[in-house]
Amino acid sequence: MIIFGTRGVTTTPERGTFYCPRCSTNKNYNFKRVRRFFTLYFIPVIPLDKLGEYVECTTCQGTYDPAILDYDPSQEGLQLEALYFVALKQVMIGMLLADGAIEESEILMLQSQYQQLTGQQIPEDELREEIAHIQQSGDSPTDLVARLAPQLNDTGKETVIRAAYNISVADGVIDESERLMLAQVGQALGLTAAHMTGLMHEFQNPQIESQG
Ligand SMILES: [Zn+2]
Repeated sequence: MIIFGTRGVTTTPERGTFYCPRCSTNKNYNFKRVRRFFTLYFIPVIPLDKLGEYVECTTCQGTYDPAILDYDPSQEGLQLEALYFVALKQVMIGMLLADGAIEESEILMLQSQYQQLTGQQIPEDELREEIAHIQQSGDSPTDLVARLAPQLNDTGKETVIRAAYNISVADGVIDESERLMLAQVGQALGLTAAHMTGLMHEFQNPQIESQG
Protein backbone atom coordinates (compact mmCIF):
# COMPACT_ATOMS: atom_id res chain seq x y z
CA MET A 1 0.00 0.00 0.00
CA ILE A 2 1.28 3.44 -0.94
CA ILE A 3 0.89 5.89 1.94
CA PHE A 4 0.44 9.46 0.81
CA GLY A 5 -0.97 12.69 2.22
CA THR A 6 -0.13 16.33 2.78
CA ARG A 7 1.46 18.25 5.59
CA GLY A 8 2.71 21.73 6.39
CA VAL A 9 6.47 22.22 6.30
CA THR A 10 8.00 25.28 7.95
CA THR A 11 11.16 26.86 6.55
CA THR A 12 13.20 29.91 7.58
CA PRO A 13 14.17 31.79 4.41
CA GLU A 14 15.29 34.95 6.25
CA ARG A 15 16.59 36.28 9.56
CA GLY A 16 17.18 39.78 10.86
CA THR A 17 16.30 42.22 13.59
CA PHE A 18 12.98 43.96 14.18
CA TYR A 19 11.11 45.92 16.80
CA CYS A 20 9.17 43.35 18.87
CA PRO A 21 6.07 44.93 20.46
CA ARG A 22 6.01 42.32 23.23
CA CYS A 23 9.65 42.77 24.16
CA SER A 24 9.35 46.54 23.52
CA THR A 25 12.81 46.62 21.98
CA ASN A 26 14.80 45.44 18.94
CA LYS A 27 15.19 41.68 18.83
CA ASN A 28 16.28 39.01 16.39
CA TYR A 29 13.61 37.38 14.25
CA ASN A 30 13.19 34.35 12.05
CA PHE A 31 11.00 34.84 9.02
CA LYS A 32 9.02 31.62 8.66
CA ARG A 33 7.18 30.25 5.69
CA VAL A 34 4.73 27.36 5.92
CA ARG A 35 4.09 25.46 2.73
CA ARG A 36 1.86 22.45 2.20
CA PHE A 37 3.75 19.47 0.78
CA PHE A 38 2.52 16.33 -0.85
CA THR A 39 3.99 13.50 1.21
CA LEU A 40 4.85 9.98 0.23
CA TYR A 41 5.46 7.58 3.09
CA PHE A 42 5.37 10.66 5.38
CA ILE A 43 8.25 12.30 3.49
CA PRO A 44 7.48 15.70 1.94
CA VAL A 45 8.20 15.40 -1.79
CA ILE A 46 6.20 17.97 -3.77
CA PRO A 47 5.66 21.56 -2.59
CA LEU A 48 2.03 22.65 -2.95
CA ASP A 49 0.37 25.91 -1.89
CA LYS A 50 1.76 28.41 0.60
CA LEU A 51 -0.17 28.16 3.90
CA GLY A 52 1.23 31.19 5.67
CA GLU A 53 4.15 33.43 6.55
CA TYR A 54 5.06 34.96 9.86
CA VAL A 55 7.81 36.70 11.77
CA GLU A 56 8.89 34.99 14.98
CA CYS A 57 10.71 36.80 17.80
CA THR A 58 13.58 34.56 18.91
CA THR A 59 13.33 35.98 22.45
CA CYS A 60 9.62 35.82 23.39
CA GLN A 61 8.55 33.32 20.65
CA GLY A 62 5.72 35.69 19.68
CA THR A 63 4.67 35.47 16.03
CA TYR A 64 3.57 38.43 13.94
CA ASP A 65 2.23 39.27 10.54
CA PRO A 66 5.21 40.01 8.22
CA ALA A 67 3.89 43.61 7.97
CA ILE A 68 5.65 44.08 11.33
CA LEU A 69 8.96 44.41 9.46
CA ASP A 70 7.79 47.74 8.03
CA TYR A 71 6.53 48.89 11.41
CA ASP A 72 7.98 52.09 12.79
CA PRO A 73 7.72 52.04 16.61
CA SER A 74 8.01 55.83 16.78
CA GLN A 75 4.75 56.08 14.85
CA GLU A 76 1.82 56.47 17.24
CA GLY A 77 -1.46 54.65 16.85
CA LEU A 78 -0.07 51.67 15.01
CA GLN A 79 -0.62 48.57 17.04
CA LEU A 80 0.56 45.14 16.08
CA GLU A 81 -0.45 42.35 18.37
CA ALA A 82 1.28 39.00 18.57
CA LEU A 83 -0.88 36.71 16.44
CA TYR A 84 -1.41 34.15 19.16
CA PHE A 85 -2.86 36.86 21.40
CA VAL A 86 -5.42 37.46 18.65
CA ALA A 87 -6.02 33.73 18.19
CA LEU A 88 -6.43 32.95 21.87
CA LYS A 89 -8.83 35.86 22.34
CA GLN A 90 -10.89 34.67 19.37
CA VAL A 91 -10.97 31.04 20.44
CA MET A 92 -12.14 31.96 23.95
CA ILE A 93 -14.94 34.15 22.55
CA GLY A 94 -15.88 31.41 20.07
CA MET A 95 -16.07 28.77 22.82
CA LEU A 96 -18.27 31.00 24.98
CA LEU A 97 -20.55 31.94 22.08
CA ALA A 98 -20.94 28.26 21.17
CA ASP A 99 -23.43 27.82 24.02
CA GLY A 100 -25.32 31.08 23.65
CA ALA A 101 -24.87 34.76 24.41
CA ILE A 102 -22.07 36.05 26.61
CA GLU A 103 -22.98 37.20 30.13
CA GLU A 104 -21.32 39.98 32.08
CA SER A 105 -19.59 37.39 34.30
CA GLU A 106 -18.13 35.75 31.21
CA ILE A 107 -16.70 39.06 30.00
CA LEU A 108 -14.85 39.32 33.31
CA MET A 109 -13.64 35.75 33.00
CA LEU A 110 -12.34 36.35 29.46
CA GLN A 111 -10.50 39.44 30.63
CA SER A 112 -8.86 37.59 33.51
CA GLN A 113 -7.92 34.59 31.35
CA TYR A 114 -6.43 36.90 28.73
CA GLN A 115 -4.36 38.70 31.31
CA GLN A 116 -3.22 35.45 32.90
CA LEU A 117 -2.04 34.02 29.57
CA THR A 118 -0.58 37.12 27.91
CA GLY A 119 0.35 39.37 30.82
CA GLN A 120 -1.62 42.14 29.12
CA GLN A 121 -5.00 43.69 29.76
CA ILE A 122 -7.81 43.84 27.26
CA PRO A 123 -10.18 46.80 27.63
CA GLU A 124 -13.86 45.87 27.92
CA ASP A 125 -14.98 47.98 24.93
CA GLU A 126 -12.35 46.36 22.73
CA LEU A 127 -13.45 42.91 23.88
CA ARG A 128 -17.14 43.68 23.30
CA GLU A 129 -16.34 44.93 19.81
CA GLU A 130 -14.52 41.68 19.03
CA ILE A 131 -17.40 39.62 20.44
CA ALA A 132 -19.96 41.49 18.29
CA HIS A 133 -17.77 40.95 15.26
CA ILE A 134 -17.43 37.19 15.85
CA GLN A 135 -21.13 36.88 16.69
CA GLN A 136 -22.03 38.49 13.37
CA SER A 137 -19.66 36.32 11.38
CA GLY A 138 -21.13 33.15 12.90
CA ASP A 139 -17.68 31.55 12.85
CA SER A 140 -17.07 28.53 15.08
CA PRO A 141 -13.95 28.33 17.29
CA THR A 142 -12.53 25.94 14.68
CA ASP A 143 -13.11 28.42 11.83
CA LEU A 144 -11.42 31.15 13.85
CA VAL A 145 -8.23 29.25 14.68
CA ALA A 146 -7.93 27.64 11.24
CA ARG A 147 -7.44 31.11 9.78
CA LEU A 148 -4.50 31.98 12.04
CA ALA A 149 -2.98 28.51 12.46
CA PRO A 150 -0.45 28.88 9.59
CA GLN A 151 1.01 31.95 11.34
CA LEU A 152 1.45 30.34 14.76
CA ASN A 153 4.44 28.40 16.05
CA ASP A 154 4.16 25.56 18.57
CA THR A 155 4.33 27.95 21.54
CA GLY A 156 1.44 29.95 20.07
CA LYS A 157 -0.63 26.86 19.31
CA GLU A 158 -0.14 25.46 22.80
CA THR A 159 -1.19 28.77 24.35
CA VAL A 160 -4.33 28.86 22.20
CA ILE A 161 -5.28 25.33 23.29
CA ARG A 162 -4.61 26.26 26.90
CA ALA A 163 -6.97 29.24 26.54
CA ALA A 164 -9.68 27.01 25.06
CA TYR A 165 -9.14 24.49 27.85
CA ASN A 166 -9.32 27.14 30.58
CA ILE A 167 -12.65 28.37 29.21
CA SER A 168 -13.98 24.79 29.14
CA VAL A 169 -13.13 24.16 32.79
CA ALA A 170 -14.29 27.58 33.96
CA ASP A 171 -17.76 26.20 34.77
CA GLY A 172 -16.28 23.37 36.83
CA VAL A 173 -16.38 20.39 34.48
CA ILE A 174 -15.54 19.54 30.89
CA ASP A 175 -18.52 17.88 29.27
CA GLU A 176 -18.46 15.70 26.16
CA SER A 177 -19.30 18.54 23.74
CA GLU A 178 -16.49 20.68 25.17
CA ARG A 179 -14.07 17.77 24.90
CA LEU A 180 -15.05 17.33 21.26
CA MET A 181 -14.65 21.04 20.57
CA LEU A 182 -11.16 21.06 22.14
CA ALA A 183 -10.16 18.13 19.91
CA GLN A 184 -11.48 20.00 16.86
CA VAL A 185 -9.63 23.18 17.80
CA GLY A 186 -6.43 21.13 18.18
CA GLN A 187 -6.97 19.60 14.77
CA ALA A 188 -7.65 23.02 13.19
CA LEU A 189 -4.34 24.20 14.67
CA GLY A 190 -2.58 21.28 13.01
CA LEU A 191 -1.61 19.58 16.28
CA THR A 192 -1.37 15.80 16.17
CA ALA A 193 -3.62 13.65 18.35
CA ALA A 194 -0.56 12.59 20.38
CA HIS A 195 0.47 16.20 20.96
CA MET A 196 -3.09 17.03 22.09
CA THR A 197 -3.17 14.07 24.47
CA GLY A 198 0.11 15.26 26.00
CA LEU A 199 -1.17 18.81 26.38
CA MET A 200 -4.46 17.73 27.96
CA HIS A 201 -2.55 15.59 30.41
CA GLU A 202 -0.33 18.55 31.27
CA PHE A 203 -3.31 20.91 31.77
CA GLN A 204 -5.05 18.40 34.03
CA ASN A 205 -1.89 17.78 36.07
CA PRO A 206 -0.31 21.24 36.35
CA GLN A 207 2.17 20.07 39.02
CA ILE A 208 4.20 18.02 36.50
CA GLU A 209 4.52 20.98 34.14
CA SER A 210 7.65 22.42 35.73
CA GLN A 211 9.55 19.16 35.35
CA GLY A 212 9.22 19.61 31.56
ZN1 LIG B 1 9.73 39.47 21.49
